[in-house]
Amino acid sequence: MSRMRVAITKKPAESGARSAPAGELKTACIRTFGCQMNVHDSDRMRRMILDAGLSEVQDYESADLVVLNTCYVRENAVDRVRGHLGQLNRLRREGKVKKIALTGCIGAAEESAELKEQYGIDLVLGTHNTYELAEFIGLPTMRETYTPNLPGVEGRHSAFVTIMTGCNYRCSYCIVPAVRGRMICRSMDDVLEEVQRLTAGGTEYITLLGQTVDAWRESGKRFADLLKRVAEIAPRVWFTTSHPSNMEDRTLRIIGESPSIVKRLHLPVQSGSDRMLKMMHRGYKSDRYRRKIEVFREEVADGTLSTDIIVGHPGETEEDHEATLRLVEDCRFDTAYIFKFSPRRGTEAAEMPDRVPDEVVQRRFLEVLRAVEQNALRQNRDKIGSIEEIFIREGRTRNGRAIGETWSGHAVHVPAEAEPGSYVKARIESAGPHVLYAGEPAN
Ligand code: SAM
Ligand code: SF4
Repeated sequence: MSRMRVAITKKPAESGARSAPAGELKTACIRTFGCQMNVHDSDRMRRMILDAGLSEVQDYESADLVVLNTCYVRENAVDRVRGHLGQLNRLRREGKVKKIALTGCIGAAEESAELKEQYGIDLVLGTHNTYELAEFIGLPTMRETYTPNLPGVEGRHSAFVTIMTGCNYRCSYCIVPAVRGRMICRSMDDVLEEVQRLTAGGTEYITLLGQTVDAWRESGKRFADLLKRVAEIAPRVWFTTSHPSNMEDRTLRIIGESPSIVKRLHLPVQSGSDRMLKMMHRGYKSDRYRRKIEVFREEVADGTLSTDIIVGHPGETEEDHEATLRLVEDCRFDTAYIFKFSPRRGTEAAEMPDRVPDEVVQRRFLEVLRAVEQNALRQNRDKIGSIEEIFIREGRTRNGRAIGETWSGHAVHVPAEAEPGSYVKARIESAGPHVLYAGEPAN
């Protein structure tokens, strides 16, 4: 990763955390949990760490500073982080790890005070003041690194570009608005400038990020306008996450027309039941969702479709569940991220009656999973025999295969020595429900 410096602004510390003594920290390990936003936030913190002269290490044992950049979307996320904090405390007692920082969505939640106390965490930062890590490690505070106007990481084969932060929805089950705040859109000029700079520095693949990217707007311009401009600059483009209420048909047309946009749509539906969608405050009915998918199929030949589904939201009946299974059947998803409902303190659904018993949730989870996988396997098998241009995301892994992505958005394993960021052409020889397997590349 190439290093870069950003403009720095001196300001008084807000968290009250004192900086680590100069010279005490030489190495740092960042562990990321959760979604692409967190991966992107970790990238910014990585840049601060490098700018402060620390070297990055991959294991806790050799790290002076460990940053746990966390997710709070489901309860087991907190349990997982507790496990890591326990391990870090042991290492600290053995004189290995010197400082522990907890950042991200758990850092922004009330529970972080209890964790700080219990595990003796040195620095707790939410999602809005991640920039204070800079001061903690001996740099003047870099406020810009956590406004939406932030520079990306140059010179890598792929990069995330934030186009908006926060969310204006209030889905019954979701903690995101509480920990990430209301939507702030970044200006088109800033986004385009960053995309220009990244692609000029050799970045091949740009992913535009936001909780509801289709809600992006700026003086009459909407997400479709921004996407079109980005697709004219970057060699390869994707975006996530879309929201069915905001998504314009125009956006779907642009995906179909632009040769640089990966033909994969991630459009979370959450449930196939109108009653549940209303209870969740999603703002659309299942018919609108189905119509969007029809347009996608018309506009984007050979496109792939993924979604998020929650099973076992309070009040979900057998009828609601069957409506979800019908929607899964109709929409023919290639992938679905299926979540068992997890009550998050402070959300409306956490207080709702009519909890669904665990064993029922488990059965419904497996039924939805089976329906998605059967369909995905059928569709993936249709790809066998086709020659695909594959973008390599990860070089040869331990099993001797590189991992890549087709223009249709399928994940592919390729028996090749290719570099991340390069393209190979290969024939698809077999398929599983989650991945395609290619033969030796032809080029
Ligand atoms: N903004 C996106 C949207 O509205 O579709 C998704 C953001 S959320 C971080 C990612 C996914 O986590 C959601 O689509 C939902 O399926 C799941 N999720 C969020 N809160 C959850 C909860 N309390 N229990 C189970 N799944 C949840
Ligand atoms: Fe959460 Fe709903 Fe906002 Fe997505 S749209 S981040 S699920 S509140």
